[in-house]
This record gives sequence, structure tokens and C-alpha cells, in this order.
Amino acid sequence: MGFELNKSYSGFRLIKKKKIDELKSLGLLFEHEVTKAELMVLENDDDNKVFSATFRTPPEDDTGIAHILEHSVLCGSKNFPVKEPFVELMKGSLQTFLNAMTFPDKTMYPVASRNQKDFFNLMHVYLDAVFYPNITEETFKQEGWHYELNSPDDKVVYKGVVLNEMKGEFSNPESCIDRQLAHSLFPSTAYGFESGGDPKKIPDLTYPDFTEFHRKHYHPSNSRLFLYGDGDTQSYLDFLQEKYLKDFSHMDVNTSISHQRSFRKTKRKLMSYPVSSEESLEKKTYVLVGYKLDKSINHEHCLGFSILSHLLLGSSASPLRKALITSELGSEVIGGGFDDNRADTMFAVGLKGTELEHENKILDLIDSTLRELVENGIEKDMVLSAVNSIDFRLREANFGGFPKGIVYNIQALGSWLYDKDPFTHLRFEKVMRKIKRNMHKGYFENLIQRYLLENSHRSVLVATPNPTLGKKQELHFFLILIY
Ligand SMILES: [Zn+2]
Repeated sequence: MGFELNKSYSGFRLIKKKKIDELKSLGLLFEHEVTKAELMVLENDDDNKVFSATFRTPPEDDTGIAHILEHSVLCGSKNFPVKEPFVELMKGSLQTFLNAMTFPDKTMYPVASRNQKDFFNLMHVYLDAVFYPNITEETFKQEGWHYELNSPDDKVVYKGVVLNEMKGEFSNPESCIDRQLAHSLFPSTAYGFESGGDPKKIPDLTYPDFTEFHRKHYHPSNSRLFLYGDGDTQSYLDFLQEKYLKDFSHMDVNTSISHQRSFRKTKRKLMSYPVSSEESLEKKTYVLVGYKLDKSINHEHCLGFSILSHLLLGSSASPLRKALITSELGSEVIGGGFDDNRADTMFAVGLKGTELEHENKILDLIDSTLRELVENGIEKDMVLSAVNSIDFRLREANFGGFPKGIVYNIQALGSWLYDKDPFTHLRFEKVMRKIKRNMHKGYFENLIQRYLLENSHRSVLVATPNPTLGKKQELHFFLILIY
């Protein structure tokens, strides 16, 4: 049926309606009249239907509160009081995707299915989980942290699902340095904290803080709901209203996200990570440089930089990757290039398998390679092939087994989460045309010049191996307990 702007349907008012040719979809944005929850619908003929609920959850410390909550709400709820609804769904449903993800500033609960009845059931279980979870103190201890003491003479140990998961993450130096880089680029914002939880800080979290975080963040007024595919929008609106939203009133929630003020000069941080005393320390250092770029709501910037990132690092022939590898200063390129998972985007590149004394050589090499590209111009066929490959990827919308709707949902959140038009990042045609028109007129050289070479907002991170650190960390865990 045709929905009309500013009219109400089952408690939802239609506030935006746009044809999105790129996705062969009609985009609808509804606002729930009472709670102000937003619902974005992409109507099209894809039978792989997607639903998700996303909450803005910027962290205020390193306790991993959002991550622990993400795990905990899937441990049973009011209408589905089974212990592990997630596991049951995995077995019994026709789902094509079922997950929950904690990002640096949001928590997302997506489901997908090709079967209409199954799809409604998945929505039901997930909405019940987020709005009415059984988050008892028991769940909190199991998913978050608790003490364990096996015999009176043993040392007390901390355990918990998320605590153990993050201990694993933190024992991987590459994951650690990536996380530290993002924190160091945005120190006075929510991104200065570890959204997954720092194993040393997770035991600071208390059960009352945990339930309060749920009360404040997992409310329709702080939610962004998403529907995609060939389903009937009116029946979705009825379902959402009747089963859930009609029971909520509006709540004032301030979860807005601030931007980082720019640095005047480069920061540097030296870290060390534990290795065993028998291990050789040779070629075990990591050197990584990161730059804060533009705001992620700037769609042209995001598209331009994804292409540039592919151009610089995408294959073994890409100029920056090639320069780093052939220098033999390190064994592997790290950093991952362009990243638009935060309100401000960033770019990171570096080498692992190197030595501390190579730090300046690596940084100089990155700088001189970029400078040469700007001075001599990037080879035309290289530019063309990078543009074409990203263009093709967007058009094919082949996301390696991921339902398309979920990828579009994440893309839309690049502006939607920051209170801007959710459709901007999906309508790539016009921006792509502009980039193509300018690609041989210094477009990418300008991006390099402005955002990488002339950018003083950068952080350098160096991680060296340290054979004595392992013991100290054990000690730290032991010490907290005494207080
Ligand atoms: Zn997890």
C-alpha cells in the first residue's frame, strides 16, 4: 500500500519517503508517535528479510558494560524464559542470519529469514530479549565476571564469558594495538574507552550499574529499528505497536556522541606486551600510525576514502602496501586502512614483525610514499581500477554471504546514528558520478594531501615484546582482590 507523508499508521508517523534506485528499494522512515523510536523500512523484492534493533550505547568507562549486556539479554526473557533462546533459535529456525554485535558506540541485534512466519517469530524473540530480558545477578556474574576459588589455598581467579573473551582479545598484540590506536585518536570522547571491556576494568562493574544501563539505553526512545525485504510493512507496524511499543511512554535519553577536537601535533605511545621468557624478542615489534579524518556523516568523504584505501593498500601492487613490504622493514602490513565505524572516520597503517629502531624509517617511508604519489600523480589505470572495483562491489551488493539488508542497515547507521538522514549513505550513484568525473583531476591526490600529509591529528603506536610483563599482569589481577 502507499504510505503518505505525515500520516499515522498503527502509532507510527511517516516522516520521510524516498525512492532509492541504487537498492531497487523504497525507503520509508517512520517515527513512533509516543516513544519517538525511529523505524526505517526498505521495501523491495528481496525475500531475505532483515529486522534489527539498534541502541546507541557510547561507553563511559572501560568496564565493557554494553558488551556484557549484549551477551546477557540473550539469556532468556519474559515471554521466552528458556536459558539460551539464542542457541534454540540457531537450531530450530530457518534464519539466514542471527547475531548481536557491540560496536564502539552502538549495540545491534539483527535477524534475517526468507520465511515469513519464522521472520515474525525471530522478531518476537529478539524484541522480547532487548526490552524484557531476565538479567538477574546470576546472568550478570555468568556473562560479566565473578570470582572462583577451588580450594582455600588456591589463588582466587576472575571468570565470566565476556571477561574471558576480552582476555583473549587482549592477549593478541595486534588486536590490542588496533584498539589502543582508536582510543588514542579520540581520547576525550566515548571512543577513548574500550567498548568491549578491558579485562583489568571489567571487575569494576557492579550489578546495579549494569541494570541501570539497560533501563536507560534499551528503551524504544533510544532505539533505531530496521526492516528490509519483501514483507508487508503495515503488518510489521501492527506487530511492533501491538506486541511492544504500545506499552512504553517517551523517555528522555541523552546518548548523543561528541566529536574529538583536533590535535595540534602527533601523539606517540609506547606499549609493551607480554611474551614468555624463552621466546626470542627479534622482529616482534609493531609500529602503527593512525589519522583522524572527516565526520562519517559526510558520505562523499566515506566513499572517496574507501576507494583511496583500496587504492593504497588493497592488493600487493598497491603503492603503499608495496613500498612497506619491499622495504623489508617488517613482515606484514597492519592497521586495515579506512575505518568508518565511529562519528569521525580514521585511517590506520603500519607494520608488524619489525624492530623498535625501525620506527622512524617506517613512518618516513609512509610519508615519502604518499608525498611521491601527490607530486607525480597516481597512475591513471590504478585509479580507474580502484574506482571500478568499489563501484562494482556496491552495485553487485555481494557481501560474502551476509544478507544485503544487514549491510545496508550498517551503512545507513553511518548517518542515522548521528541524527542525520538515514538514506544518505545508501544513495551512492550521484556521489560516485562526481568522483568519476574528478578522478583524473587530482581527486585522490587531494585527499592524501589534505587528510594524510597535512593532518596533524595523528597517533603513532609502538608495541614491543616484554618477557617480564606476563607475571605483572597476574599480579594486577591478584592485587585488585585485596582491596
Ligand atoms: Zn562478545
